[in-house]
This record gives sequence, C-alpha cells and structure tokens, in this order.
Amino acid sequence: MSDMTTTLHVPGVWRCPKCKFRLVQMGFNAADGTVFNSDKPGEKCPNCSSPLWRVSWEDEAKEILDIAEAAILRERQLRDLVDELKRIVDAADAGPQRHCRKAYEFTQSQIDRLKERIKQVET
Ligand SMILES: [Zn+2]
Repeated sequence: MSDMTTTLHVPGVWRCPKCKFRLVQMGFNAADGTVFNSDKPGEKCPNCSSPLWRVSWEDEAKEILDIAEAAILRERQLRDLVDELKRIVDAADAGPQRHCRKAYEFTQSQIDRLKERIKQVET
C-alpha cells in the first residue's frame, strides 16, 4: 500500500530548478532493441551546473497543461492573423472600386497592425 503523502515522480525525468532545463534519461538495450527509463540521480544541468531535481507527476501535468494552453492561444492568434490577412486581400482586390485615398489609409493602418501582430506571434 503506497503512502498518499509520498510525491510520485516521473521515472527518468529531471529538471533544473534555476534554468528549467529538462532531462529525460533513457537507456537502450542493444541485445533486444528495447528502450527503457533510466533513473540515475546525480546529473548536473549542462547550462548552469545545478543539481537536477526529480519531476513530480503533478508538476509534469501542470507543465503539459501550460504548453497546451499556450499552443491554443497561439493557434487563436494565428487564426485571427489569417482572417485579417484575408480581409486585407479582399480589400486590395476591391481596391479599384474604392476611393484611392481612403483605400490607401485603410491598407497602411492594417499593414502597421499586422506588422505588430506578426511580431507578437513570432515571439
Ligand atoms: Zn540549469
């Protein structure tokens, strides 16, 4: 029977507390071609030489959730950007039918906004 207060760790997964470097230790058995988790303590961070800490399942789950949420947010930003690009293309296609000065102002402000948003998406 396991103790419910014991923290459960992800086998073979280590994290640097300073720079967040993540190490996944794995071994390979050449005789039968299998790959297995290796769980040897004592590794140092290759970035800052700090001792690596074990990663709990709870921390692993939270990190995966953060990564998923960031990916969803980025996907929304990219969809919004594509929609805006489509509107600009549509406006450019309709250009000859518009008043020239007004069409130019609209296009320039949209381009400036797009440049700003593209920078946000690229970071
Ligand atoms: Zn480090």
